[in-house]
Amino acid sequence: MDFRLTEEQQAYRDSLRDFVDREIVPVAREWEHAGRYPTEIVEHLRQMGLFGLTVPAEYGGLDVDAVSFALTFEEISRGWMGIAGVIGTHSLSAWMIARHGTDDQKRRYLPELASGELRTGIGLTEPEAGSDLQGISTRAVRDGDHYVVSGTKTWITNARHAGMLPVLVKTDPAAEPRHRGMSVLLVDTASDGFTVSRDIPKLGYKGPESCEVVLDRVRVPSDALLGGVEGRGMQQALSALETGRVNVAARSVGVAQAAYDAASGYARQREAFGRPIGDFQAIQLKLADLATELQAARLMTYWAAAKLDRGERADTESSMAKLFSSEVALRASLEAMRIHGGYGYSQEFEVERLYRDAPLMAIGEGTNEILRTVIARSLQHGGLPGP
Ligand SMILES: Cc1cc2nc3c(=O)[nH]c(=O)nc-3n(C[C@H](O)[C@H](O)[C@H](O)COP(=O)(O)OP(=O)(O)OC[C@H]3O[C@@H](n4cnc5c(N)ncnc54)[C@H](O)[C@@H]3O)c2cc1C
Repeated sequence: MDFRLTEEQQAYRDSLRDFVDREIVPVAREWEHAGRYPTEIVEHLRQMGLFGLTVPAEYGGLDVDAVSFALTFEEISRGWMGIAGVIGTHSLSAWMIARHGTDDQKRRYLPELASGELRTGIGLTEPEAGSDLQGISTRAVRDGDHYVVSGTKTWITNARHAGMLPVLVKTDPAAEPRHRGMSVLLVDTASDGFTVSRDIPKLGYKGPESCEVVLDRVRVPSDALLGGVEGRGMQQALSALETGRVNVAARSVGVAQAAYDAASGYARQREAFGRPIGDFQAIQLKLADLATELQAARLMTYWAAAKLDRGERADTESSMAKLFSSEVALRASLEAMRIHGGYGYSQEFEVERLYRDAPLMAIGEGTNEILRTVIARSLQHGGLPGP
């Protein structure tokens, strides 16, 4: 096995690293605390083609390999995890349309999604159903050549900027098993009855908005049914989450790296009892643990991504990478804060943002409890995944 990035991947990572250090790191703390939308950064992302990460080249996208996809979210999250959210669910939905959409849907949406002219997110979660997506109650009732859609979605990131939103609905609530009655509709957010009803106040992950969305008898043309066939929505959404979990694992690596950088820099500079605190073995051991876990999380994330690049299924691998890396990010952000002593608790240092951002990675794209059940099931059926 060779754990080195290719020259192309290294060059891609280096250019992103420069961009993040130049455009994101200097403003992250101030803009995040001000609750300011990162408009200028989003424009840079657009110019760099990053809205087209998962869009095939024939539709104008970058169509990056999965390892480069991971590098993108890692590097951006090292600067400010919220910025990764702007292109996170957008990339997931673009991937889903590229993989499952009809030719018409691909032609209609992918070029504008790639350029960032059209923005999107994903509408799965409801107030009464998150992990148990088969328990959603948003209904789509066929009426001639339209569906009439009613229901409420919540925690929808990028909802205020989305021109089109893939929404998971029930087309046949009586179906057994329940997932056979579920479909994804590509809903035009300018439709009558589509309302972004409120922004949810949140602990971290500031930058992109996360909103409640109400659909009140929204008329959606039947050709907006993803893939053109009812009953495939759950499978379409779950297949996209495989890529989504690599995304969240990579964000976790970025946050853990930022925590390590902040902690090791501070340990060199802060003095106590007449010497830098990094001279104390208690601090050195913490940094050694941080660095070791960070490296393990990074390798596991690249491993899951590399499996996707080989065209293999990676639901177990991406679940393991997301579970492990997000727990590493949580521990790293807490330890970095402790190494900063009282200053770690101050909003004048970066580590308090890392501490607020890290928990999301244990929740999004499948909570870590759910992922443990996914991993356990796959162990029962196929045993441990190979290298
Ligand atoms: C900042 C943020 C942004 C988000 N963005 C989006 C978005 O853009 N689009 C979208 O659709 N959703 C989004 N979500 C929603 C997210 O995907 C859900 O919050 C997540 O899937 C968990 O669902 P839930 O909140 O309903 O928790 P629940 O499903 O109610 O879970 C509550 C607790 O019970 C545990 N639990 C539930 N079932 C089981 C089980 N079978 N076994 C063991 N434990 C279980 C969970 O792990 C959790 O600890 C976002 C959430 C946040 C916080």
